[in-house]
Amino acid sequence: MEWDERVGVVTGAASGIGAATARELAARGAHVIALDIDGGGLAGVVRGIEDAGGRATAHTVDVSDAASVTAAVRETGDDLGRVDMVVNCAVSFIAKGLDVTSADWDRVLSVNVKGISNVVQAAHPLLARTEGAAIVNTASISAHIAQPARWTYNATKAAIVNLTRCMAMDLAPDGIRANTVSPGWIWTPEVARAADGDRARWEPVWGRYHLMRRLGEPAEVAKAIAFLCSPDASFITGAELPVDGGYLAMGPEGLGETSAFAGSE
Ligand code: NAD
Repeated sequence: MEWDERVGVVTGAASGIGAATARELAARGAHVIALDIDGGGLAGVVRGIEDAGGRATAHTVDVSDAASVTAAVRETGDDLGRVDMVVNCAVSFIAKGLDVTSADWDRVLSVNVKGISNVVQAAHPLLARTEGAAIVNTASISAHIAQPARWTYNATKAAIVNLTRCMAMDLAPDGIRANTVSPGWIWTPEVARAADGDRARWEPVWGRYHLMRRLGEPAEVAKAIAFLCSPDASFITGAELPVDGGYLAMGPEGLGETSAFAGSE
């Protein structure tokens, strides 16, 4: 198998993009150290990977808790003798604006920003020993734009882009690359909830925000993450890869009645 020797840590592995990434790395032969706060969801994903012939170890942890993250990553990482990849997908979706509380800020910053730092700090000794090691952090199109009542989420996503650049700088001497993926709207449980499960109704509405006029699939983001983890991306670090169907490329002229697409429906 392509990645038989490799070991990858994936956070947020119980659901959505993290689960798809855990499956993608495992399908390429890697042993996945899967972290999530949702132990039940995580067990299901790990079972699915094993049923498909892959290897994964589940750890139920809150990424904001540095001590339990370190214990989890080191327990399996030391056992396997290496960590080649770290992919951070765990997220707090707390989206608040003027009504944000101090507790909201503490939670969203400690999961979305400090959580990534915790995981990278825990894995660093193992990553630094491994040739071609790579980190991929998940930001969002929301890192670049204003959206209504989203001070918390959007600020943390912007922070992730620059945190990743700083990691890329500091870890380059250890041979570790660090990059960001920024997804557009992906059909994950969070988006499905916002749509009340009615994809047929909402995809045409939200799809218009993207040049490709549709939502993305978790597996499409997972493939981009796997590319950034792979030797094919050996000269890419400190970069941000939008996986957004053209969301960030589109200006307001692409929307509404004057849209170039308006006549094509
Ligand atoms: P998801 O809700 O499907 O999965 C997130 C996972 O994180 C869940 O399994 C959850 O249990 C876990 N989690 C939450 N808090 C945690 C904590 N404290 N410790 C450990 N695990 C925790 O979400 P998703 O949509 O797949 O999002 C994955 C990443 O992609 C996130 O960083 C998100 O911001 C980003 N993203 C998603 C979209 C989208 O449209 N879905 C768009 C842009 C960016």
